[in-house]
Amino acid sequence: MKPHVALLASPGMGHVIPVLELGKRLSTHHNLHVTVFVVACDNSLQQTSQLLNSTNHENLLDILLLRSGDISGLVDSDASIVTKILVMMRVSLSSLRSAISAMKCRPTALIVDLFGTEAMAVADEFNMLKYVFITTNAWYVATSIYAATVDKKVLDEHTNQKLPLKIPGCTPVRFEDTIEPLLYRNDAVFYWYIRLGMDMTTADGILVNTWEDLESKSLGALRDTKMLGRIAKAPVYPIGPLARPVGPPPVSRKDAVLDWLDKQPTESVIYVSFGSGGTLPAKQMIELAWGLEQSQQRFIWVVRPPSDHDASGSYLTADNGSAGFSDYLPDGFLKRTHNVGLVVPMWAPQAQILGHPSVGGFLSHCGWNSTLESIMNGVAMVAWPLYAEQKMNAAMLTEELRVAIRSKVWPSERTVERDEIEMMVRRIMVDKEGLAIRNRVKQMKNSAIKASSEGGSSYNSLSQVAVDCETSLQCLKAMAQG
Ligand code: UDP
Repeated sequence: MKPHVALLASPGMGHVIPVLELGKRLSTHHNLHVTVFVVACDNSLQQTSQLLNSTNHENLLDILLLRSGDISGLVDSDASIVTKILVMMRVSLSSLRSAISAMKCRPTALIVDLFGTEAMAVADEFNMLKYVFITTNAWYVATSIYAATVDKKVLDEHTNQKLPLKIPGCTPVRFEDTIEPLLYRNDAVFYWYIRLGMDMTTADGILVNTWEDLESKSLGALRDTKMLGRIAKAPVYPIGPLARPVGPPPVSRKDAVLDWLDKQPTESVIYVSFGSGGTLPAKQMIELAWGLEQSQQRFIWVVRPPSDHDASGSYLTADNGSAGFSDYLPDGFLKRTHNVGLVVPMWAPQAQILGHPSVGGFLSHCGWNSTLESIMNGVAMVAWPLYAEQKMNAAMLTEELRVAIRSKVWPSERTVERDEIEMMVRRIMVDKEGLAIRNRVKQMKNSAIKASSEGGSSYNSLSQVAVDCETSLQCLKAMAQG
């Protein structure tokens, strides 16, 4: 009998996609029986179901949807998206418990994503191993654990006096790039964030979507018992990059965007997208449109209706973006650019787009999945972070890894003007700088492939987790036999 593990994914494509990839890898590379529980709210249900069907066509995974139902009576409508997700996760706990209890062959381990740490109590009830899977990077893990355990004074210096957060052994986090919940010290989201950081330290292991060569410094600090290892306690397993693979196009492919890309020259198109939720203010949309047009480069732009209040505004909405572009794009923009650009409402097949040979640049909100998908396809980036930990990701990509460029003003603070956007697009797509960056990304891609291949560091890390699940199964069997 194969060891059985259960994974729990919180709502939102940025969580479900990497959890499914982890499940597939545990099943194919490490021969485990994998059940994935996916929490979905009413708004995300349709998109989630489509994703599940397209991801699991080989039936590698048992997938169970846990519907969180209507939470409007439990949380203010203007609460942050993080608060809403955590409430959905909490109301789903009883269905998770019932589902595990009803299983004939109980899983020996539960792997939850960042927003599912409360479910680790359910793992305890069933004597299961419990792991947290962080779908972003090790620097984020280090920051969260440090912020959760450090003196209040140190956090005050960071958020009030705007001093860098000096995490032992890691690159300091500048105030300007800090993680969003730290800025809201009186909001529920701050307390959630601190609790999640504490929860990580109580797991049997922390799985991170990164690899040794990419983040040796932060990973070293998390393991060093004289540094963060003293408080992190749980072993850290870098198991990435887990990104959706781009297979050969199906013979009967019917996708207008990919068909359009087929007709463009190699590495000539910049793809512009802000993840599953990123939303720009109205004025910024106008500037971006003009910047793209002025750059005279080919582009694909995934467009959502603007919001002046919330950069993550469309994260879990069911809006299909059918509202007219003419309401928020400059007059005549679509007509003037129709020879070079494609504007796609709401959602595009990103993994395939980034894997297409015609794409050479990605203007990205720096969500970690998007970042990894860009690296895995050797695509250079313009970093345009909006919320959550995206500004830290942008700092890492531009300053440490040097695979992206970034605007002079931060888009979350001020409007980036059209001339600067034009210049950034040309720097990435036309200038020698862009070529050098593309070469660096391609080297990084090779190091990622090596880490994930049999015998590579991430492969071995995940093997260790699989071995622990197998050992736990044997222990449970031995106990059952008395
Ligand atoms: N995505 C997509 N099409 C879109 C927007 C996003 O396929 O139009 C996918 C993207 O490929 C990535 C995920 O959704 O896998 C977004 O995750 P990320 O961590 O980049 O950002 P988030 O949405 O969580 O902010």
